[in-house]
Amino acid sequence: MTDGFDFRILNRDGLARRGELTTPHGVVQTPAFMPVGTRGAVKSITQRDLEDLDAEIILGNTYHLYLKPGDGLIARCGGLHRFIGWNRPILTDSGGYQVYSLAAMRRIHEEGAEFRSHIDGSLHMLTPERAADIQAQLGSDIAMVLDECVASPAGPEPAREAMERSVRWARRARTRHLQLRHDPASAPDVAVTNPGQAQFGIVQGGISPGLRTESVQATVELAFEAYAIGGLSVGEPVDVMYEVVAHTAPLLPDGRPRYLMGTGMPDDLFECVAHGVDLFDCVLPTRNARNGQLLTRRGPLVIKNARYAEDVSPPDPECSCYTCRHFSRAYLRHLFIAGEMTAATLNSLHNLHFYLDTMRRIREAIVFGSFEKLRQEFRQTFSRRPQY
Ligand SMILES: [Zn+2]
Repeated sequence: MTDGFDFRILNRDGLARRGELTTPHGVVQTPAFMPVGTRGAVKSITQRDLEDLDAEIILGNTYHLYLKPGDGLIARCGGLHRFIGWNRPILTDSGGYQVYSLAAMRRIHEEGAEFRSHIDGSLHMLTPERAADIQAQLGSDIAMVLDECVASPAGPEPAREAMERSVRWARRARTRHLQLRHDPASAPDVAVTNPGQAQFGIVQGGISPGLRTESVQATVELAFEAYAIGGLSVGEPVDVMYEVVAHTAPLLPDGRPRYLMGTGMPDDLFECVAHGVDLFDCVLPTRNARNGQLLTRRGPLVIKNARYAEDVSPPDPECSCYTCRHFSRAYLRHLFIAGEMTAATLNSLHNLHFYLDTMRRIREAIVFGSFEKLRQEFRQTFSRRPQY
């Protein structure tokens, strides 16, 4: 554990845990949802909005920040927190997922992932050590190891190869991270902007329980501050995702936070908290907001529908967010159809409030021992199909 990093479980309800994650930039109440601030900004809203929404931690994408404006520039500007004017915790991913999903070209070598930038075609090499260096320069509170992602459904052989390579890469990433932590003078080219940075390992193994078990054992041996479940929400059926989480989460060390990467829909939060997951991130609330989809306890509301043209009721009558307290469906529909930027802002404020408020209700239910009741209620009312 680094100085300033700690995790305490305060309450349990079944396998669900209500905890407190301490980082150099403050405490995060868990289970928690992390809004995604891809390029140093959560799209269409400000850091002031995030503070008003009570977001306690956000995620930054290493791939994007490395390409633009560059981790060196951000380090010279004092690190990511100071650069973006956000003094609460930040988690950065390793950049691996974007290399697989965005880069113009990628080749995986034992050394690392070679890729061409999707912006200008320039050639880059992301190694486990380089991903640790970039995140040290960004100075996030939590850094992730570089892992190898495979498309789902991957066959057993590609899944095994990627899992085993991810373990070898995790060992190299851990060695480099500890070197930067304990002996930064030995890496004069890397400006460590947050000496208290923690590093999480990532469990891979596709949808195979056996591979997941092996990956947990090999990754936990490397003694990270905490562990993530990676390689899910990549196209597998949702029931399969739940089965993998149900299998994997309880194998991880009980006293460390568990982070399910890139998930998910509101009902996923309930199902995965029930299996002992503590941290989530997903672009869904902000991306769907920009596409005019508002998420509610009943399901998605598609704001462009003609039936809302003169509907003066709030977007979600059960919601207490800024958008729902002040504006009508008719106005939000007008903004969206007119292509006003404010549409993305107001819709994002609502969707992020909905996610963060859902996590608050989950935490409260765990404290009072009523999580299972809340989960069942949510199941009965929420549908993934547009309800309005
Ligand atoms: Zn609202």
